[in-house]
Amino acid sequence: MIRNYRDLTRWEMEQVDRENTIVLIPLGALEQHGNQAPLGTDDIIAEAMSQEIKKALEAEGEEDFPMLLFPVIPVGLSTEHKNFCGSVTVRPDTYYHLLYDICVSLAHHGFKKLAFLVCHGGNAPIAQVLSRELRSELGIAPFILSSGAFGHPDVKATISKGNIWDFHGGEMETSMVMAVDESLVKLELSEAGEPTAFEKTRALKPYGPVSIGWVSEDWKTKDGSPIGIGGDPSGASAEKGRIILETSARELVPGLLDIRDWNE
Ligand SMILES: [Zn+2]
Repeated sequence: MIRNYRDLTRWEMEQVDRENTIVLIPLGALEQHGNQAPLGTDDIIAEAMSQEIKKALEAEGEEDFPMLLFPVIPVGLSTEHKNFCGSVTVRPDTYYHLLYDICVSLAHHGFKKLAFLVCHGGNAPIAQVLSRELRSELGIAPFILSSGAFGHPDVKATISKGNIWDFHGGEMETSMVMAVDESLVKLELSEAGEPTAFEKTRALKPYGPVSIGWVSEDWKTKDGSPIGIGGDPSGASAEKGRIILETSARELVPGLLDIRDWNE
C-alpha cells in the first residue's frame, strides 16, 4: 500500500515491513520561477509528482506496492537564483547533512530502500554524493529518480513552437503548477528568458562537457533585463501540465518496480 509517511501513527509504522518498503523522498526548492510562477514551484511539482506516481502504480495494478511518500524537503540548493527576490538557498554542506540525518533516522528504524525524487536539478549533485556515502557507510541503497520525463515525445509535444530554451520556470514547469492550481500562476505577467551569456557560443551548455557554472542572471528577456528563467511560459496550460505530470510519473514506474525487486 502506498501511504504518506506523515499520516502513519507509531503503531502503524511498527506494522510496516520496513526492510522491503521504499521511502520516496521528494527534493524540492524554494526559488524564483519568473514573474508568473510561484517560488514554491518545485515543491508543488514534487508533491504533485509523488501523488501522480502513486496513481500510476495503482493503474498498473500495484495497489499493494510497498512505498511511503516522505514529506517534500521544501528548500534546496538555489545559489544560482539567490539575487532574485524571495529565493531561499541552503549551503551544500547544510543540505548534505540535512538529507544525511534524515536517511540515518530512516535506516535506524530498519528502512533499507530509500529513493530521492529530484524535482530541482541543483539538488542532484548532493543526492548523488550522498547516495554513494550512505551505501558505503550504512549498507542501505538510496536510489535517485529524476522527476521530469522532459525528453519524452509526449512531453516535448506540449511545448509551443519556437520555445527552444524551455526548462527553468518555462512553459513546462508553469503548466505543471497550473495542473495543480491555476490560481497560483499569473500568466499575464510572464516574460520569456534566453541564455544571453552564451549567445554566440550556443555549444556551451551550463552543465555540459564544457561547464561554465551559470547563474540565473545569465538568462535575460529580449530587452536584456535579467529574468532568470529559461523558455517562454506564455503558452502554459493546466492540460499540458497534466500530460507532463502523468507521463513523467508513468516513466518512473519500471524503475520503482526494479527497486522493489532489488535485493543485495
Ligand atoms: Zn523549478
